[in-house]
Amino acid sequence: MELSKRHCQYCGSAIHGRSDKKFCNDACRSSYNNQRRDDDADEVKNIQYILRTNRKILMMVLEDGVETVKVPKERLSQLGFNFKYHTHHFQHSPSMNFWFCFDYGFLDFWNGWVLVVRDMGESYLQNLNRLFGNMGKGS
Ligand SMILES: [Zn+2]
Repeated sequence: MELSKRHCQYCGSAIHGRSDKKFCNDACRSSYNNQRRDDDADEVKNIQYILRTNRKILMMVLEDGVETVKVPKERLSQLGFNFKYHTHHFQHSPSMNFWFCFDYGFLDFWNGWVLVVRDMGESYLQNLNRLFGNMGKGS
């Protein structure tokens, strides 16, 4: 018998009894589970905060009501954009990749510039003439 070798996963006390017991009692079990849920929730909240910040930045860049705007990637970085996180991706072609944070996103030109867009559906994004046609307007 190696009963005394096991310890509660929450408080660390030695456990006696059934060999499959992981906690000394229900209180320790529920505290352990609650703590784990909180840790998970924090992770999710942190990433949601980053994604929402990213979205706000893209929205801000498109502020004057234009449909698309070409900006240096550096500008987004300066505003605090975190390029590591996005909600979805649309590949128009191997070199044309759109990255989205919710309904706002950008087309990465890979030369230091991006085209900030709103996600108005795949058929909208397929129409590059329409997207690029708006680029010069307003300037
Ligand atoms: Zn315990």
